Amino acid sequence: MQLTGLLEKMKMDHLSYQLDAVCEQAAKRDLGYREFLTEVLQTEWNGRYQKGVESRLRTTRFPWVKTLEQFDFAFQPSIDRKVIRELATLGFVDRAENIIILGPPGVGKTHLAIALGMKALEAGHKVLFMTLESMITRLTKARMENRVERQLQQLFYPRVLIIDEMGYLPMSRDEAGLFFRLLTRRYEKASTIITSNKSFVDWGEIFNDQVLATAILDRLLHHCTTLNIKGESYRLKEKRKAGILGTTPKTVDIKDETNEDM
Ligand code: ADP
Ligand code: MG
Repeated sequence: MQLTGLLEKMKMDHLSYQLDAVCEQAAKRDLGYREFLTEVLQTEWNGRYQKGVESRLRTTRFPWVKTLEQFDFAFQPSIDRKVIRELATLGFVDRAENIIILGPPGVGKTHLAIALGMKALEAGHKVLFMTLESMITRLTKARMENRVERQLQQLFYPRVLIIDEMGYLPMSRDEAGLFFRLLTRRYEKASTIITSNKSFVDWGEIFNDQVLATAILDRLLHHCTTLNIKGESYRLKEKRKAGILGTTPKTVDIKDETNEDM
């Protein structure tokens, strides 16, 4: 059988496309048989890996993609880089632990959540991103249509579930109850990353029920890394750099109610 036929039968599409270049390179570098074989298989593997990442990326619902490498840690000194480095090794996914990222608007909560989600995705895990609002809408709709179990099961499936923007809108008790059911299901089985502009003491307000808030925090915090970002908005920094804002605002704390994101 011809080489191209073999590659086709073995579904080695990526190698097929790059065959001439790979052979040319191998000749130039005077590779041995083993090295050449490694190079050839690596080409196919790289292509398959990249395709896998891209197809999984489409199912994550990330609003945009940012990486840890794109995060300017010097700008946000309250973030311990060691903790981020440790999280990036994805031990938290294997141990089904949670991450809670707190801080005022613009400090990079969503950026970090997506960047850690990207790491998990690249390692082959299923990742799903949702704002709290859209998740609650889904669950409520599912309950009205008598299929809440199925919806909860769908949200249980991702190894990493990112729930963004907890705290912008308060929840009714019923909604908080649905959220609690989801967390109970994922507890110690799969990781959840939550971002919030509210500190834990204010979570009672979000859930409209102090007892439920305590139960939710209990599930979330049992195995959890909390990042409390105390710093300035990166968006404001960029605007200032562009000359849109004049003076340097004081550093905002998490309790400050800023509506920049709304
Ligand atoms: P938050 O979710 O805390 O409101 P975002 O993560 O949406 O903030 O960040 C706002 C914008 O600023 C995004 O485009 C993000 O990529 C960028 N950003 C925030 N912090 C940093 C940082 N330290 N380095 C690089 N970009 C950042
Ligand atoms: Mg955000």
